[in-house]
Amino acid sequence: MADAPDSLFEGRTFFDNEEFSSFLRKRQEIGEVWVKDAGGVSIAAANKKIQDPNKHFRTDFVVQYANFKCLHGGKHVPTAKDRNKGSKKFGCPCTLQISANRQENALVVTKYNPEHNHELVSVALEYALAVCAFSTPKIATAH
Ligand SMILES: [Zn+2]
Repeated sequence: MADAPDSLFEGRTFFDNEEFSSFLRKRQEIGEVWVKDAGGVSIAAANKKIQDPNKHFRTDFVVQYANFKCLHGGKHVPTAKDRNKGSKKFGCPCTLQISANRQENALVVTKYNPEHNHELVSVALEYALAVCAFSTPKIATAH
């Protein structure tokens, strides 16, 4: 399984953010939906702090590092508003972190917890929501 092109494991590398994003879309087809979590630093912000331009990260990494959690991760705190909607948060412990790595010249999976506490079921709406979230990463919009 570790050899499958769509497998996810710590140390897996991606050429750039585009390859990583399309990989995430493939995972969504099997029902594993990652959403961006708190933290993370954009390449623009990281390069700003590096005086020597020769040591800058490639800008197509987009992120120096970024954290993701399962769509069903996080604790659900019910509010009056979503009482009727139902929640997708089951407190799933799955997490994923990628980091830009100059030695590898790649984005590297630096943390991965694969243990979902729920079934992986592909749902069209979740797919659409996640694609939307990945195409406009808020930490990558800084100029
Ligand atoms: Zn999960």
